[in-house]
This record gives sequence, structure tokens and C-alpha cells, in this order.
Amino acid sequence: MRIDVLGIGFDNLTMDEAVAEGLRLINAEGAHYVVTPNPEIVEVCRENPAARDAVNGADLVLPDGIGVVKGAAMLGTPLKEKTPGIEFAGYLMEKMARQGKSIFLLGAKPGVAEMAAVRLGQQYPGLTVVGTHDGYFREDGPIVEEIRQSGADCVFVCLGAPKQELWMAKNGLATGAHLLCGLGGSLDVFAGTVQRAPEFWSRHGLEWFYRLCKEPRRIGRMMKLPLFLVHVKQEKRRK
Ligand code: UDP
Repeated sequence: MRIDVLGIGFDNLTMDEAVAEGLRLINAEGAHYVVTPNPEIVEVCRENPAARDAVNGADLVLPDGIGVVKGAAMLGTPLKEKTPGIEFAGYLMEKMARQGKSIFLLGAKPGVAEMAAVRLGQQYPGLTVVGTHDGYFREDGPIVEEIRQSGADCVFVCLGAPKQELWMAKNGLATGAHLLCGLGGSLDVFAGTVQRAPEFWSRHGLEWFYRLCKEPRRIGRMMKLPLFLVHVKQEKRRK
């Protein structure tokens, strides 16, 4: 059973359990997708029912950061741990490499996915990157066809939220891949164009603050974080 945080149902899994489930889905029949909402996305989903349906319709819903884990604890229904999308993807690639699986990288600015492909190929020998495409395209059809032709087992869909969740819900099946993972800005990190916060910051639940210092233009989006806490407190009182 999923744990509800303001209308989004989260799977209550450790990172190991989440990765094992991801691998199982890659080897299962049909198409599946993973989402990793943070408080900002939970807030977006409160106002956007289509985004909420796409997020709740995922086969795996993982809490991306400490905010959602804190929110769940405040509501009296704690989640085991945070399972950030980018770390989930790293562990999953390790396992996929051992099984000789293939991935397609979709998203980010032109050139970034190609750079990520080179670096990931070196980092995870055994994993084949069978295709890449930037995230600034007009029509879905040709991209879906390109992925289908590539025969990828897994697709990293990095278009930002909620665009990537809506894209996966709509196109996942037609790509022919078994697993699609919505991973926000992860390709920029894999390519080396954006640095993740040093461990000190993430260990203290301050990764969001580090990102804000690096990219002050995120302030508008990040104002959703205090709003999320207000809504969690309201929900707690209501319960
Ligand atoms: N992006 C994209 N297509 C778009 C809009 C965004 O490929 O139409 C990419 C953008 O270049 C970036 C990622 O999506 O690589 C979103 O990054 P952001 O940091 O906003 O996502 P988060 O990790 O916060 O979800």
C-alpha cells in the first residue's frame, strides 16, 4: 500500500528495494515507469490533476528528497528513506550493466545527452547506450519511433517535471521499452555540466539550499517548499 502525502501515493521502499523493483520491471513484460517527486512536484500536482494522475499512475513512486520524507513523518505515516532519482538511476545502471541491458537518454539541452552517454559508457561497462536525443523537440512521434527502433530496455526521460511524467504516461508503451525513469536534471549531472551538492549538504537535508545558491533563478520554484510544509501542517490538523 502506498503512503499518501498530499494526494501523491509514495512507495515505502529502501533504496535497495526500489532498485530491485526497478530491475524486476525491466525484465517484466510490458511498459512501466518510475517517478521521483519532491515537494515542489507534489505542490504542482495539487493544482494540476493531469500531472497528479501521471505521477500516481507510475509503477514506482519514490520520494526524491528529504522534504517528502519529513512530510510523511509529520503526517504520522513515515517512509523508510529518501530515494533520490539520480542515485536510484546510478544503482540501477550498475545492475543493468551486469545484465547487459541497454538505455536511451532523452532530455536536456542539445549535446548534453551525448556527453552523458560517453561518460556513462565508461562508468558502467556492460551497459549499452543505444541512443540519445535532446529534450527540446516539438513532436513526440519521431522520438517515440527513434526509441522503438533503438530497442532500448530502459529510457531515462529528463524533461523536467511535470513534462516528463506526462510524456511517460502518454508514450511509454509505444516506445517498446520496459522501463522509463523520469529523472529531471540528471543528464546534466551525468554529463558533468552541473555538479551535485557535496555529501555534507545532502546528509544535512540541505541539497535544496546548495542548488539555490548555485542557481538563484530557482527561487520562484523553491518557494513551493514552505508552501508544502504549510499544507502538510494543515493536513495533519485535519486528520
Ligand atoms: N528540459 C528539457 N526539455 C524541456 C525543459 C527542460 O529537456 O522542455 C531539461 C532541462 O534542460 C534540464 C531538465 O530538463 O536538463 C530539468 O532540469 P531541472 O533542474 O528543472 O529538473 P529537476 O531535477 O529540478 O526536476
